[in-house]
Amino acid sequence: MARRTIIAGNWKMNLLPDQAESLVMSLVAVTENKPDLEVVVFPPTALIPYAGEWVSGSSLQFGAQNCWHELSGAFTGETSPELLRALGCGYCLVGHSERREIFGESNDLIGLKTRALIQMKITPIICVGESLDEREAGTHLEKIKSQVESVFDAVEMSSWLRLVFAYEPIWAIGTGKTATPDQAEEIHRHIRDLIRERAGEALSEGISILYGGSAKPSNAAELLGKENIDGLLVGGASLKAEDFSNIISVF
Ligand code: PEP
Repeated sequence: MARRTIIAGNWKMNLLPDQAESLVMSLVAVTENKPDLEVVVFPPTALIPYAGEWVSGSSLQFGAQNCWHELSGAFTGETSPELLRALGCGYCLVGHSERREIFGESNDLIGLKTRALIQMKITPIICVGESLDEREAGTHLEKIKSQVESVFDAVEMSSWLRLVFAYEPIWAIGTGKTATPDQAEEIHRHIRDLIRERAGEALSEGISILYGGSAKPSNAAELLGKENIDGLLVGGASLKAEDFSNIISVF
């Protein structure tokens, strides 16, 4: 089965409604006539209700940056995956390193969120990645293994083809320092090997793995040229219409 190719833009806590709308408008044309590519923007939660109108009639998709793992109840300030589904989100980021580090999200919580999203038929993009200290200590492969396996433990194997992983080395996020294509490819292969060990060849070859961490127009083509890199999760450059369009135009 062919893997999905995805270019995702994580806007984080940026943009006001008119700024977001004009960014979407400038992306609509560049996403046309690319049937093998999915382009997804991730606005702040409060802009999600507008996003459906902004992208309507185009092939641009949108998702949420985070959600809770219960569908409703007394969870003040949280967002239900059921509500995200009702608002038209096709995707949700899970376990971004900012969620893990600033908000203390654990592997177990991320597994629960992933399971809830699968239940709501929203594609989870699960972010994994190591810190600079972990890379320098040589523990990065183990770190990523524990992050990936906690998702496997939480989700029935029959749904694994609906998972998307994003390898995002923390030392490359927002720093301007990109993992080299070879460094990224090594980790993507590692994740694919972990899937193969648990679930066999077909699932291993079918699950998309994106790279994120200072992706930009000047390095996008080389990263995307690697066998196991199926797309990009873009932060800073996704806020600039020209840069994000140039990344999309690599296809
Ligand atoms: C991110 O936050 O997911 C990200 C990849 O950010 P940046 O592209 O700015 O490094």
